[in-house]
Amino acid sequence: MLVKDVVNIIEQLAPPSLAEGWDNVGLLVGDGDAVCKKILFALDATDEVIAEAAAAGADMIVTHHPIIFKGVNALNTSTALGRRLLKLVKNDIAVYCAHTSLDIAQGGTNDILAQLIGLKDVQGLMQTENGMLGRVGDLEEKTTLKALTNKLIKALGMPAANVTGSPETEVLRVGLCTGSGADRDFMLAAKNALCDVYITGDVKYHEAQFAQDIGLCLIDATHYYTESIAMPRVCAYVREHSGLECVVTDTNGESFKTVTADTTGE
Ligand SMILES: [Zn+2]
Repeated sequence: MLVKDVVNIIEQLAPPSLAEGWDNVGLLVGDGDAVCKKILFALDATDEVIAEAAAAGADMIVTHHPIIFKGVNALNTSTALGRRLLKLVKNDIAVYCAHTSLDIAQGGTNDILAQLIGLKDVQGLMQTENGMLGRVGDLEEKTTLKALTNKLIKALGMPAANVTGSPETEVLRVGLCTGSGADRDFMLAAKNALCDVYITGDVKYHEAQFAQDIGLCLIDATHYYTESIAMPRVCAYVREHSGLECVVTDTNGESFKTVTADTTGE
């Protein structure tokens, strides 16, 4: 199988036509006509992920976030991006990025998170230029904000989550947007869709206040954890349709580490 055949398989799941105009999706590094036998999946093509791919002899990395976003003015080792791109080229590793195309796609990041929480009657949250971003749906039964947060923390394998609203608040209808979805218009859309709680990442201080002001509970389940959960699903999908060796990275790409107060007095 060639790299371009793998690209076709991914684009069946996440058509580039769904991507936002500002985005940069597609085969961003490599030769579509090269043979592909092994693929590594990760949220980002970090130094660790590229080293892992090179050590494992992978021919391709599939990520959610685009490795190249803006113009590249020089390709040398003086920048982190330059070092990454050179290492990829030296090791003959292609990189495909499915970003907002995967967010908007049926069965993409937002649907994966909705499934994980067990939402039913799932609908889109916000109309964008090429599709619906975010999702709204109902839990099987009423629960508390605290119980839903605990369920989410376990399902996403994360250390903790920040919430607004009383932990005892009863919640049934859930809005969500994976990654960075804490814009006020998204929160208002969730409120207008009668959501009790909105799950996203990258929530700023005043956006958390805004959620409180409009009476919407908020769970900040982080940018990394709301999206990295999709990569094993995308990996399984490509494995099933290509028959190639497909593996998810061993690395945890979350830059933030959670440090809690040390109460031992040390
Ligand atoms: Zn993201």
